[in-house]
Amino acid sequence: MAPSTAQRRPHAILVAYPLQGHVIPSVQLALKLASRGLSITFVNTLSVHHQTLRANSPTTDEEDVFACARRSGLDIRYEVVSDGLPLGFDRSLNHDQFMSALLHVLSAHVEELARGVEGVDCLIADTFFVWPATLARRLGIAYVSFWTEPALVFTLYYHLDLLRRNGHFGSNDNRDDTIDYIPGVPSLEPTDLPSYLQDTDTSTVVHQIIYKAFSEAKRADFVLCNTVQELEPSTISALQSTKPFYAVGPLFLSASTSTVPTSLWSESDCTHFLDPKPDHSVLYVSFGSYAHLSKRDLTEIALGLLDSRVSFLWVLRPDIVSSDDPDPLPVGFVESAGDRGLVVPWCRQAEVLKHRAVGGFLTHCGWNSVMESIWCEVPMLCLPLLTDQFVNRRLVVEEWRVGTGVEGRPRREKVAKKIGEVMIGGKVREGLVRKIGETRRALENAVVVGGSSEVEKQYEVR
Ligand code: UDP
Repeated sequence: MAPSTAQRRPHAILVAYPLQGHVIPSVQLALKLASRGLSITFVNTLSVHHQTLRANSPTTDEEDVFACARRSGLDIRYEVVSDGLPLGFDRSLNHDQFMSALLHVLSAHVEELARGVEGVDCLIADTFFVWPATLARRLGIAYVSFWTEPALVFTLYYHLDLLRRNGHFGSNDNRDDTIDYIPGVPSLEPTDLPSYLQDTDTSTVVHQIIYKAFSEAKRADFVLCNTVQELEPSTISALQSTKPFYAVGPLFLSASTSTVPTSLWSESDCTHFLDPKPDHSVLYVSFGSYAHLSKRDLTEIALGLLDSRVSFLWVLRPDIVSSDDPDPLPVGFVESAGDRGLVVPWCRQAEVLKHRAVGGFLTHCGWNSVMESIWCEVPMLCLPLLTDQFVNRRLVVEEWRVGTGVEGRPRREKVAKKIGEVMIGGKVREGLVRKIGETRRALENAVVVGGSSEVEKQYEVR
C-alpha cells in the first residue's frame, strides 16, 4: 500500500475487536502498515489492554505494547478506550451483555478519542464493528474494513439477503438443499454455513451485530482480508467486482511480531514436554480463545485421546466448559495420560506448531489457527464448534485437503480413529502432508516481495 502524498505520512486509526482471535491479526496489520510508511494509532479496549499486561508480565513492564516497535522506527501510537463495562466484568460468562456493549456503547468512546487525534486520514476497523462507516463519514475520513476470517465467510455474510431470499436463512423452516447461487462460491451445504446463519432464532444480539456490521461494510472504501488470493481466487474475484477487496494475509509474519505482546492469557512453556518427543509424534489440541465445549463432548474427546495412544499437548482454557466448572476433565485423566500428555491453560501456539515434535493439530478451525497450521505444515483434525469454524472446516477438508474432519458430535471411538489417521503413517496422513506442503508454498509465495499479499495497492486518501 503506498501513500498518495509524498510529504506527509497517511495516518490511520486502527481499532481492534476485543477478542483474542481479532487482536492478534490487528496488531500484525498495524505493524505491516507502519512498516510500509503509514502512521498508525492503534486502539485496544481498556479490558484487553489490562488483560494483555497481566498476561505478559514480567516479560512486559511497558504500559504501551508498541513501545518496542516504535523504538525500532515504526510510527505507531497506542490508545485505549472503555467498552463501557467495568474492568472486572466476566465478558466470557456474560457474553450477550459484552456484545451489547460493543453494539451500543463503544462507538461513542472511539469517536471521542478520534476527535482528539490530529491529522487522521482513515479509520481501519474490524468488520464486526457496527459503526465504522457512519463514524468515518461524520469525521470526513476514509473507512477501511478489516476482515480477520476467510473471504468465503465475508461473502456469505455480505450476501445474507440472497440466502434469505432463497430460503436458506432467516426462517424456522430453512431449506436444507445445496447452496449454489452465491457469486464466486462453490456449492455449499447449509451445514457449512457459519453457525449464526444456521440458527433459527435470528433475533439475538449477535444477529443484530451481523446485520449492522455488514451494512457498514458495504459502505467501506475498501476491505483488507487476512487471507491469500491463491487460496480463494474465485471468491475474491467475485467480491472485487462489488468493491475493492484485498487479500493481505497471512498476517502473522511481521518481523516485529515477537516484540509486541498480544496474548490475553499467560503462556505456559511446553518445551520441556515437546523436546524429548520424537519428530511429528505429538498431537496439539486447542479450541481457541472463544468457543465452549459441552462437558459431554469434552469427556468424549478426552477418552478418545487416551484410546488413541498418541502423545498430546492440550490447551484447555479454564472456561472451556464454563467459568463455573474450571476442572471439567474426567476423573483420573491426567494420571492415565502420564508422560504421554500435557494439559496447559494457554501456550504460545505459534511456537508449539513450529516444534518438530508436533505432527497434527486437533483444532476448532479458528481462522488464525488454520493459517498457522498450514504455515507450519501441521495437518489438521477439524472439530468446528461455532461461528466461521464450519466454513473454515469446509476449506481445510474439502477445498485444500489439508485436514480431515471429526464429523458430527465427537464420540470416543471416532475421535481415537481419526487421531490415528492424522498422526500415524498411512494413506490419509501421507495425502494430508503432501497437500499441506503445497498449500504452505502458496502462503509463502503470497508474502515474498511482489507476492499477491505484498503488491502495493494504491489508494487515495480523501
Ligand atoms: N493461541 C495461542 N495460544 C493458545 C491458543 C491459541 O497463542 O494456547 C492463539 C492462536 O495462535 C491464534 C489465536 O490464539 O492466533 C486464536 O485465534 P483463532 O482464530 O484460531 O481462534 P479463536 O480464538 O478466534 O476462536
